[in-house]
Amino acid sequence: MRRACPGCGGRWMDQWMERCDRVLFQTYGRFPVTFVRGRGCRLWDDEGRGYLDLVAGIAVCNVGHCHPKVVGAIQEQASRLIHVSNLYYTRPMVELAERLVEVSFAQRAFFCNSGAEANEAAIKLARKFSKDHGHPERFEVLTMEGSFHGRTLATVTATAQEKYHRGFEPLVPGFRYVPFGDLEAARNALDDRTCAILVEPIQGEGGVRCAPPGYLQGLRELCDGAGILLILDEVQTGMGRTGRLFAYQHEGMAPHVMTLAKGIAGGLPMGVLLATEEVASCLTPGTHASTFGGNPVASAAALAVLSILLEDGVLEAMGPVAERFREGIEKLGRAYPQFVEVRGKGWLLGMEFREPCRAVVEECMRRGLLVNCTMDRVLRFVPPLVIGMDEVEEALEILAGAFQEVLGRG
Ligand code: PLP
Repeated sequence: MRRACPGCGGRWMDQWMERCDRVLFQTYGRFPVTFVRGRGCRLWDDEGRGYLDLVAGIAVCNVGHCHPKVVGAIQEQASRLIHVSNLYYTRPMVELAERLVEVSFAQRAFFCNSGAEANEAAIKLARKFSKDHGHPERFEVLTMEGSFHGRTLATVTATAQEKYHRGFEPLVPGFRYVPFGDLEAARNALDDRTCAILVEPIQGEGGVRCAPPGYLQGLRELCDGAGILLILDEVQTGMGRTGRLFAYQHEGMAPHVMTLAKGIAGGLPMGVLLATEEVASCLTPGTHASTFGGNPVASAAALAVLSILLEDGVLEAMGPVAERFREGIEKLGRAYPQFVEVRGKGWLLGMEFREPCRAVVEECMRRGLLVNCTMDRVLRFVPPLVIGMDEVEEALEILAGAFQEVLGRG
């Protein structure tokens, strides 16, 4: 028997939703749609309905769904070799590390499988760095209020949002929180136990909040002065999302350590820890590992993603398209008293309202547009970076109708 989906505007649960709800952990509040196919910025559900996708797997499918070059690289590699182990050498992982080193501040890469794992590795690296440099008393990492770094015990502790901590106490020792964007607060919080500062250039999950100009450079100077590490979490901002390959590149500075995940492998699971030679050398054989890290298929996909972003002109082309959308949502928003502001950079945009925006998300979905909401009141737009002007106009038109329907009642 069909059941109505709670809070989903009259849609029915189909058999996949019911089967999913019977056997999967109930950790996600899913929308009532089962996707079966994707191409570029479009997704199709199992009833053949098409959607324009401004979510992109939450900032993952940066080159679009099933980009032919990514599909080709995966197919090619999968037909040759899927997995061996880090007991041995494989080619795609070496080529990928070389490419990442070439295009970033880093000299070495460590591969894992997710953003949380990359941050977990970065935290271990920071502790080890201090120990190896004669400071066994340094183990605390300073993180920012409103941050998001993952769901493992250490990374959820690093995540300075109480809602993610509840029920999992005691948390991991060694984290202190300061207000995001406040350099003075960071300076005052540093003490002789601090081994690193961990920060996102833009807080994505935290409501699309940008670091103020000069903040990241200021943190770097603080870290240099104290002989500790600046770790940038570019899990969401990296891989072209903000218009440069990495967000730190807008700021004329570089961190000691950076973490990547999400967009790196076109939708296959991969996380990366990048660091300078001096810092990376602290993780010696046996100190850290990952069974799947640097997996040949994920590495081949990531090489294809980098080639599309850097050689097919995606980063150059995305600026005006994102700008047009930004202007469009600012104009749309100004017509409603519930609207606060638009924030973000490139294709990591947030639109804050004074009230929860779940109803807008649902209305957009009914109209064939996927958008996401974070921190309850911030609509987040993180489409594939290859989205075109026509698709942006289409999205703006749907948003205008959805706002009218939901906020117009207001
Ligand atoms: N760091 C940032 C900035 C993120 O946005 C996320 C996920 O949203 C993570 C870390 C965690 O990544 P994952 O879900 O791959 O563990």
